[in-house]
Amino acid sequence: MTLAVSDLTGYLYCPRKLFLEKVLKLRSRDTAAALKGALRHDLYERLNKADETAIKAITKKEYYDIFEQFKKEYASILRKVISYHKEALKKVKVDIPEFYNQMFRGIINEAKVKARNILDFLETEEVYGDELWEKLTPKILVKVAVQDEELDMKGVVDKIEMHPDEIVPIEIKTGKAPEKGVWPGQKIQLFCYMLLAEKTFDKPVKRGQLYYLDDKETRELINTPFVAEDVKKTLAKTKEILESKKLPDFVENKRKCEKCPLKDQCYDSQFMEEKMFELLGERQEKLV
Ligand code: SF4
Repeated sequence: MTLAVSDLTGYLYCPRKLFLEKVLKLRSRDTAAALKGALRHDLYERLNKADETAIKAITKKEYYDIFEQFKKEYASILRKVISYHKEALKKVKVDIPEFYNQMFRGIINEAKVKARNILDFLETEEVYGDELWEKLTPKILVKVAVQDEELDMKGVVDKIEMHPDEIVPIEIKTGKAPEKGVWPGQKIQLFCYMLLAEKTFDKPVKRGQLYYLDDKETRELINTPFVAEDVKKTLAKTKEILESKKLPDFVENKRKCEKCPLKDQCYDSQFMEEKMFELLGERQEKLV
């Protein structure tokens, strides 16, 4: 069974929720969020592919011109993605202008980062066209699919910087950065991406980064032997839950339940009993 990185973070958040979603196949019915997530992923994949065209079209060492080049390419792709999926978005009642604006802010941020990256490179070597594309480092990939057959795990990392001697996976987070260090779930998530990126690109990953958008702060984690050890332990515990036929306990931190989209189903003991009966084919003595 190939696990996704999100299964491990799901396990760390609440093993019972993971079981409800993956074993009992309960859905939070938020189809709008699922569609928006899929479109965001599709958009960023297209942006990665458009970078070559945008970069080859750069002719001047001017931040504004370079930024405009990316913005033009990205905005055109965003319009196409939204227009192609307009009917599906309407069907699940997504506010299209609001979603467009949210995505537009995202692509503007990307365009700024890419423009700054190119400008920094041009300071060291002033080349344009095909030569700029070929020599440019680091190249930045966004929403990159990564996997490792040995670990039997896959995921999609927000960003990867491709340097000549290393690659650096970067996860972007909304919400506050902790006072120091990183949140435990985010640490395992980044650890997973460090291992998966190393395998996917067959290049060393010496470090990974978490970038907290709201605080504009970066936290860096170094790749040590403990990284693989931590991931393997969490992977084993996650697999145990997914292969088990026993409903896990409620999460200890009940504040998590307040926002949980599966709360009504999770706390409905009769409903849960029926679901477990369907799973096991026999009624359990005590399920919840
Ligand atoms: S309601 Fe609470 S215990 Fe139940 S799945 Fe959600 S977070 Fe876990």
